[in-house]
Amino acid sequence: MAEAYLELGTNLGDREVFLARALALLEAADGIELGQRSRVYCSKPWGGLEQPDFLNVCVQIETSLSPQDLLAECKRVEKALGRQVRERWGPREIDIDILMMQGVNIDTPALTVPHPRLMQRRFVLDPLSDIAPRWMFHGVPVSLLAEALRVDEPDQVGFPDEKATQRLAELRGSSR
Ligand code: AMP
Repeated sequence: MAEAYLELGTNLGDREVFLARALALLEAADGIELGQRSRVYCSKPWGGLEQPDFLNVCVQIETSLSPQDLLAECKRVEKALGRQVRERWGPREIDIDILMMQGVNIDTPALTVPHPRLMQRRFVLDPLSDIAPRWMFHGVPVSLLAEALRVDEPDQVGFPDEKATQRLAELRGSSR
């Protein structure tokens, strides 16, 4: 089993329901066990398109799947939740990215792990530092990278969303 971290994002429809359904489908998949989950973060859209705010959450998993099979599983869940193909950086029902995976360093057109934009996005580093603050990325812990980005990129607006965190916990039937 390898430890890995996924990021889920959504900005259409009932966003907490999309997150909860995606987590349930991942949990039901063979070879994936869900672990710790971050708070839910709300962030302003990125990339210049006018669109609703995003909700993002990171989840730790233990998996026996290869990176490629894990990506296929993530895509299967996106499809099951009715994700439509739209423009890059555009609105989406659900997006699931593999952020990092223990012992994995891949750079191919279909899959790059660690995720290539991990270091540049507060909506990734803020939730990730909730659950993996000490994970090293290029020799620097995630918590420090998140802190640096908060200073360097004040225009990237994001915050832990207590209401959304609470609602997701209720939908998941847990206190988290
Ligand atoms: P997205 O628009 O975020 O769903 O990403 C589109 C494509 O990025 C996917 O079809 C994947 O093949 C590719 N991709 C490359 N690296 C990753 C990764 N670490 N996690 C998820 N998708 C990835």
